[in-house]
Amino acid sequence: MRVLAIHERSVPISRYQDPVLPSGGLTTSIVAIETDATRDGRTVVGYGFASIGRFAQGGLIRERFAPRLLAADPRDYTDGDGNLDPSRAWTVMMRGEKPGGHGERCVAVGTLDMALWDAAAKAGGLPLHRFLAESLGGRARPMPAVPVYAGGGYPYPQDDVARLGDEMRRLADLGYSRAKIKIGSAPLAQDVKRIDAAQRALPHGGALAVDAMNAYALDEALEAAAALSPLGLWWLEDVCDPLAFDELSAVAAAYPRPIAAGEALFSVAEAKLLDQHGGLRRDRDILLFDPAHCYGLPGYLRIVEALEASGWPRAAFWPHGGHLFTLHVAAALGLGGAEVNPLCFRPFGGLSDGAAPMGGRAAPPESAGIGFETRAELAALFRSLG
Ligand code: MG
Repeated sequence: MRVLAIHERSVPISRYQDPVLPSGGLTTSIVAIETDATRDGRTVVGYGFASIGRFAQGGLIRERFAPRLLAADPRDYTDGDGNLDPSRAWTVMMRGEKPGGHGERCVAVGTLDMALWDAAAKAGGLPLHRFLAESLGGRARPMPAVPVYAGGGYPYPQDDVARLGDEMRRLADLGYSRAKIKIGSAPLAQDVKRIDAAQRALPHGGALAVDAMNAYALDEALEAAAALSPLGLWWLEDVCDPLAFDELSAVAAAYPRPIAAGEALFSVAEAKLLDQHGGLRRDRDILLFDPAHCYGLPGYLRIVEALEASGWPRAAFWPHGGHLFTLHVAAALGLGGAEVNPLCFRPFGGLSDGAAPMGGRAAPPESAGIGFETRAELAALFRSLG
């Protein structure tokens, strides 16, 4: 199996269901990896995209990582049977890269890695979660459906609290009893009002997490922790700068309920530093590492294995991202659960068209690969790559 061509483009994305609302000019990269393999008479093409919530990685993909794959001998990225082996392809992409200096190259590699897994699973005729479970052997802990929550709840420029309540009711109508909203950009008193509105809008027995988007300085974080402690939140996420482990540790000492961290950490070395110095508690806290942020699945697996070895339960991992790739990864590895973005980051976030969670869980699609084609708007976008 040979990689014949890699197509890439940057596309705008919005945090809101209504893409007209200002969203900071966010972009992401989409890629298509064209191979010489065919399955059921069709050429196997793998699709992937970069982070949602950061920015596109086109320069790094075009100048460094895609050319290495295209120039490599196919024997360097295939297995003994000639099938595409994404783990070997990952090693090809990382040739010559020095340790450290993750910058955002980790996301560029993660983007291509997603498309490689899509292509490999399609060539094997399996949905990614089954393909992964076979590939990972004893490291897999397959589960048919994944606990999920809906991400969203960004601040609205007008009628914020009322519109947030509407959004939460819409999520509840779609079958989500658990959700996560953003805080940290407004005064704390306003955030407490947002939390109250969101909690009231979710179904009885639901759960609300809040994401401070790394906005707080230490004094602000401690003030927020004190105010939020009595509110019964599911978790408090991204409290301070991603690398301010001393500050996170101080917040953890003051906040008894679960804390979530790790979304903006990119390597196993950073994950170990979080574990050693972030003050997190293995009996309750949540690990958000995102496969697309940390050099793709090979990098993510290293993080899961390193933290499991230091005593973290696999149920603590709830990968950030909110899309089908992380749903497959969570299903194959038996993670705690996964984020889904049913209303924001269109067309990337959310389940297959027409799919809904049942009893708080969602199953990944059963079509071969990741199943991006089960989302009509997303399939059309990928096909536009040529
Ligand atoms: Mg976050």
